[in-house]
Amino acid sequence: MKRLILLIFVVSIIVLPSCEDGRTTPFTAYISAMDTDCSITLYSDEEMAQQCKETLLMLESRFSVTLSGSPVNALNSGKTVKADTHLKAIIEKSNELYRLTDGTFNPCVYPLVRLWGFTGEEYSVPDDEEIKATVAQVADSYIKVKGDSALLKGMVDFGGIAKGYAAELLGDMLKSNGVDAAFISLGGNIKTIGNKPDGELWRVGISSPQGGGKLLGTLAFKGEQSVVTSGSYIRNFTVDGKTYHHIIDPYTGYPVDNGLVSVTVITKDACLADGLSTAFFVMGVDSALEKARELDVSIVLVTEDSIYISKAIKEKFTLDGEIKGKYKVIYTN
Ligand code: AMP
Ligand code: MG
Repeated sequence: MKRLILLIFVVSIIVLPSCEDGRTTPFTAYISAMDTDCSITLYSDEEMAQQCKETLLMLESRFSVTLSGSPVNALNSGKTVKADTHLKAIIEKSNELYRLTDGTFNPCVYPLVRLWGFTGEEYSVPDDEEIKATVAQVADSYIKVKGDSALLKGMVDFGGIAKGYAAELLGDMLKSNGVDAAFISLGGNIKTIGNKPDGELWRVGISSPQGGGKLLGTLAFKGEQSVVTSGSYIRNFTVDGKTYHHIIDPYTGYPVDNGLVSVTVITKDACLADGLSTAFFVMGVDSALEKARELDVSIVLVTEDSIYISKAIKEKFTLDGEIKGKYKVIYTN
C-alpha cells in the first residue's frame, strides 16, 4: 500500500496536451494498475478502452509479487506453477534481456530488492555480510520455462519489465482491433501507435530528476514508438544523509551509485525499452552508451551535471530552457 501511495505521486513521464482540431475526438481512460497510474488515449471508439483496462488488470493478477494467488507469488513461495502464454513470454523476454545486458538486468534480483525493503516492508540498510550472502543467492538463481511449467530457483520479480510488456501487449491488441492511433501511458512507460489524426506530432515530456513536476525536455515524433524512463528519484529513502534507490546492481547487491540519476530509452518495442532502461542504469554511462549503439536504440542519460542525448533524436528532443544552463549537454552516437 505504501508503495502504491508513493507511486501515485510519481510521474516520470508526463503526457502533454494533445489533439485540438483532430478529425476524431480523443478519449482517455484512466486506471490504477501494476503499481502505477495508467492512462490510455484512443482516437477511435471508446469500447477498446474497457478491453485495455481488463488486460492491465489481468497482467497485474499474473505478475504481481505481492498479490497472494498470483503465479509469481506462488513461484516465490516455492510452488510449481503452470505457465500461461503471458508468464512464458515474460520469462523468455527477461532471460533474453539478462543475456543481452550481461546480467545487469536480472529477473531473479528480488531477494536483494526485498533485503533493502523495496517491496512494501520497512526500508533498511542491510549489513555487508547479508548483502554478500544475498548476492550469492541471486547469482545461483534462475527462472525458465520447461514444457508447460515455470521453473524457479530463488525468487523472481518482473517489476523492471512488466509495464513495458503490458504496453507492448496493449499496442498489439489495439492494432489488431483496427485502432490506428493511440497513446498508452503506464507510469514511466509510454507507447504510441500510429499517428494523431490531426497530423500533430506525439509529444512526450521527460521528467526532470530534480522533481517538482518540472520537465527535462520534450520528445516530439510521429508513428509507433516507446519512451521508457528509469530514475533514482522514483523510489528511494535516505539514512544518515545517504540516499538509496530501487534499482539494484545484482553483482554488488547495492542500489546503483554510479552518477546516473535518470535513463530514458527510445525504441519501438516497449518491453525492450523497459528492460534496457533498468539495465543501462546499472551499467553506468560508458557501458550504456556502448550497448545503446550496439542495439541501435536512442537514449537520454542524465547524471548530476551532464545530459547525454543520442544524435538520432537531436532534432526531436527539445531541452527545457531552465535545464539547458544547468547541465553540460553531450550529443552522442
Ligand atoms: P524500472 O523502474 O523499470 O527501472 O524497474 C525498477 C524495478 O525493477 C525495481 O523496483 C525492482 O522491482 C526491479 N529491479 C531492480 N533492480 C533490478 C535489476 N538489476 N534487474 C531487474 N530488475 C530490477
Ligand atoms: Mg525497466
